[in-house]
Amino acid sequence: MRESALIVSKTLGMLAKEVKPGISTLYLDKLAEDFIRSEGAIPGFLGLYDFPNTLCMSPNSQVVHGIPNKKPLLEGDIISIDCGAKKNGFYGDHAYTFAVGEIAAETKKLLEVTRESLYVGIREFKVGNRVGDVGFAIQKFTEDHGYGVVRELVGHGLGREMHEDPEMPNYGKRGRGKKFTEGMVVAIEPMTNLGTHKIRHHNDGWTITTLDSKPSAHFEHNIAIVNGKPELLSTFKYVHEALGIVTDEEEEFRTNS
Ligand code: MG
Ligand code: MG
Repeated sequence: MRESALIVSKTLGMLAKEVKPGISTLYLDKLAEDFIRSEGAIPGFLGLYDFPNTLCMSPNSQVVHGIPNKKPLLEGDIISIDCGAKKNGFYGDHAYTFAVGEIAAETKKLLEVTRESLYVGIREFKVGNRVGDVGFAIQKFTEDHGYGVVRELVGHGLGREMHEDPEMPNYGKRGRGKKFTEGMVVAIEPMTNLGTHKIRHHNDGWTITTLDSKPSAHFEHNIAIVNGKPELLSTFKYVHEALGIVTDEEEEFRTNS
């Protein structure tokens, strides 16, 4: 699972260098597919529930599950890229929301807070805690910033299947839900809206957008419980190297094994 997560991490890092105005999401999708296959893995989403592509590409007000197309990205857009890969029978699945050129200050803040909320949630993924502890922490942090927490879409267990039990909502009540145990692996993935938490489904059967058409951000990591504590399997290291972002945010989740 570490290997699969690393391939996705590197794929997102490769894409980070390519995201710019004028580039289409379909072009990025092709780059990602080639890269994943060159690493001896297969795209995790392609064909899953009949999804047609390698990446879920969700610009601006799209929350998740957007289908890549030929439309060029524009200066000021944001693009959420969700990527899956399967190697040796195990899945990796994580996501990052990128700025295309310069973006509005309020959108930049949304991206920062959503990424931070991911770590706020991961901190609660440890032996003795429950699903509701992660959801509560993410929801409280997000709503304290005035943002909307999407209810209909959730994180999940991860392994030989892309989506395993338990479901990992980004909202909840402390002390509720399944108890975490040593060795569990999950994908935690806050989907956070600048405005209302409400969403709308499109006729293509995939695309989901915010009801008020305001921007939505999505960040996702894969995490295992090792020695009782959360340990990251995925990393944004490659993305942040490409973008010139210096942060030690992952450090506390890397020291267990
Ligand atoms: Mg994902
Ligand atoms: Mg996921």
